[in-house]
Amino acid sequence: MKEKIIYVFMLLIVIVSCTEEESFDEYGVRILKKNGVVFAMDSRLSLNLDGTNDYMGVRKENVLTFPEGEYDGWRYYVIGNIGAEPNYKIIDDPSIHYTEGIIYADGEVSQKVVPRIFLSIPGEWKFKLVVQNEKKDTIRVSKVENVEVWFPDPLEIEAALSDDMYEAWNETLEDASEMGRREKSFWIYAVAKNGEVSVQRDEIKDGLWIMNCDETAHTDFTAPEIISPLDPLDEAWYPIGFFHTHTPLTYCPPEAHRGVGFSGGDIQAVGAHGIAFYLYDYSADFEGEIYGGHDLHQAAKLYYENCEERRPTPKSWADLDTY
Ligand SMILES: [Zn+2]
Repeated sequence: MKEKIIYVFMLLIVIVSCTEEESFDEYGVRILKKNGVVFAMDSRLSLNLDGTNDYMGVRKENVLTFPEGEYDGWRYYVIGNIGAEPNYKIIDDPSIHYTEGIIYADGEVSQKVVPRIFLSIPGEWKFKLVVQNEKKDTIRVSKVENVEVWFPDPLEIEAALSDDMYEAWNETLEDASEMGRREKSFWIYAVAKNGEVSVQRDEIKDGLWIMNCDETAHTDFTAPEIISPLDPLDEAWYPIGFFHTHTPLTYCPPEAHRGVGFSGGDIQAVGAHGIAFYLYDYSADFEGEIYGGHDLHQAAKLYYENCEERRPTPKSWADLDTY
């Protein structure tokens, strides 16, 4: 008997939660009635962002347009999603909910609380402006607006971290001795924190000590920590590049030699990721190689791979977690 009551109750929940009616008004606008709430599109509602392409960290203000007078006192929401249309139900779900507020007189929002849209999560975004009446039984939405939010440019990486790359190179030289040598490396991130976006690195990591002059030094390409929030105001860390150094042969016999620049293993690691790779290494002495006993402080330079293009813009939420 008890099971039967539960079963009937569950069936009732299913029926109640699935009421959905569709109709069209005299202009052909689709009106959806779902659980007693009326949804319809209003093409006069606009986010004025369609076709916007910009780097992560950009703030947009005064981009909302409401028809004069019609929605005074209603609540507005800006909702967004990566790669797919944002859904109305997002209003109850803070995850992809950008901003909200009240529409004041004549379709204006309060001058004190200017709606700001902080584009901090990279991706091919689809946005909608949604308005909801006080009784919460009527909802109007704008058409979808497309916004591309880009990862920082490699030029920005160099501006932010070229000193750190040089420092890691100097540490590599300082570490080298008759006892051994080791590479240095760090991951490069686009970081969104406290309303600001910057290019940062994690700590400089030491590679394994190499004692033997016949061996090549190695760097660990272990995946970095990705912090990809669902709230545009939460802290985010996205890998956008990788840096490492190669080691001197200064303390090796003259017959020891190695090629300079990215190794075969480096190129393989680079190929697996669509992000900028940087290497600090010596310039070649002869035919692309350096030889044992060279001057520790002889000419060296920064080598690049994939540095013409920024990390590809995510087409889905999953793309934020892969690089
Ligand atoms: Zn390497």
